[in-house]
Amino acid sequence: MLERWFGQRRSRRIHRIIRNSKLTLLCLVLTIVVLRGNLGAGKFGTPEQDLKEIRDTFTLYRKRSEPRRVLEQVTTVVETTSLGNSNNINSYGDLDITKLFVDDESDEIDDVNVNVPYSLGPKISDWDEKREEWLRNNPGFSNFVQPGKPRVLLVTGSAPKPCENPVGDHYLLKAIKNKIDYCRLHGIEVFYNMALLDAEMAGFWAKLPLIRKLLLSHPEVEFLWWMDSDAMFTDMAFEIPWKRYEDRNLIMHGWNEMVYDEKNWIGLNTGSFLLRNCQWSLDILDAWAPMGPKGKVRDEAGKVLTRELKDRPVFEADDQSAMVYLLASEKEKWAEKVYLENHYYLHGYWGILVDRYEEMIEKHKPGYGDHRWPLVTHFVGCKPCAKFGDYPVERCLKQMDRAFNFADNQILQMYGFEHKTLASRKVKRRKNETSNPLEKDELGLLHPAFKVVKVSSA
Ligand code: UDP
Ligand code: MN
Repeated sequence: MLERWFGQRRSRRIHRIIRNSKLTLLCLVLTIVVLRGNLGAGKFGTPEQDLKEIRDTFTLYRKRSEPRRVLEQVTTVVETTSLGNSNNINSYGDLDITKLFVDDESDEIDDVNVNVPYSLGPKISDWDEKREEWLRNNPGFSNFVQPGKPRVLLVTGSAPKPCENPVGDHYLLKAIKNKIDYCRLHGIEVFYNMALLDAEMAGFWAKLPLIRKLLLSHPEVEFLWWMDSDAMFTDMAFEIPWKRYEDRNLIMHGWNEMVYDEKNWIGLNTGSFLLRNCQWSLDILDAWAPMGPKGKVRDEAGKVLTRELKDRPVFEADDQSAMVYLLASEKEKWAEKVYLENHYYLHGYWGILVDRYEEMIEKHKPGYGDHRWPLVTHFVGCKPCAKFGDYPVERCLKQMDRAFNFADNQILQMYGFEHKTLASRKVKRRKNETSNPLEKDELGLLHPAFKVVKVSSA
């Protein structure tokens, strides 16, 4: 251990020496270039002047490199005196980030009794009455923000640790920026979760205990909108047709035949769905959860799901397959209150959308939410925060940038800017900047001062 540490230190010192000599060499080369340049331009005058210029030039270089050298000396002294302490490294690049994490041991669960059926929490059976009473007693917290428009809380999240690959966190940031933009325009609140509330329900199952907790803690919220971190809003103007779901409690993107008849594991998607705050929802969460617990339970349940569902690959139980299985095997119990939506993309598979953005821009405008201008583009299988995904990572990241920029344009355009291309981080001014900033331009609905309050009729 000690040997390894000293080995690292030695190589760090060698690196530093090489770095320093590189700097000195660079200064020397620069000096010669400057001197030659001056000579070439015929700038040299009297010998005194020449000497002064040379002296000034060297002084300038010395001055520039001095603070750095002093800092490096200090760093060296501190490092050699405080063995094993990396407190004083000024370079983020040299820091081993894992040393900062106090509880970085593996997330293994040790005291789980697999003979006791898993439960999301104490049984609750009178939530509708309790919630109604709460709403009566707290009239300031209406569950509808205006007639026909329910109060919605968008819930998303990611693991408590940094991503396993360095750019992953940058894409998480882009994805949450995108969600904040949509929600700000539509009067939706956002909850971003990074805490693993229940170690047994790690990974794609983490949403279940979280959603239950939030439903019970926010009686004022009528609908929770779960959205995966790898899904982005790509239609900033589309408003959910709330009226359509007046007597439904769970809305997912999907197809009735694929779920109830075919039992196809991709008959619906659980990356973006709406769940009403009511007793029925607590019940379906309880019915959904038993396949979730990590380890033996999840592995065995995975085998059942692969056997029972159409085209499902062999892997541990996932929340999406479990939902298809639950709906298909207990249709009478749940189907009446479930709406499988396919008139617009509540979830849209990125593979069929991202190459068509230019065509959409040419032919259509935001506001449709469907194939003409998809509400959501979801990067299923890309795993931008993990080490490995199911698709080539370069393709995933390029396409995520395109989706982000496609959506970001709808925001920037309100302020008179847009991305140079869908592939570019850079922005340019839009043509014909208006001299009357408060008049509605051709984007109408998407003026920054107006929230999208329009409530669709169907
Ligand atoms: N997730 C989470 N905590 C975790 C791991 C995942 O909240 O520790 C969430 C995250 O929002 C992620 C979602 O679970 O997007 C589902 O996983 P993923 O999107 O990777 O699955 P896919 O959509 O590719 O099937
Ligand atoms: Mn996802």
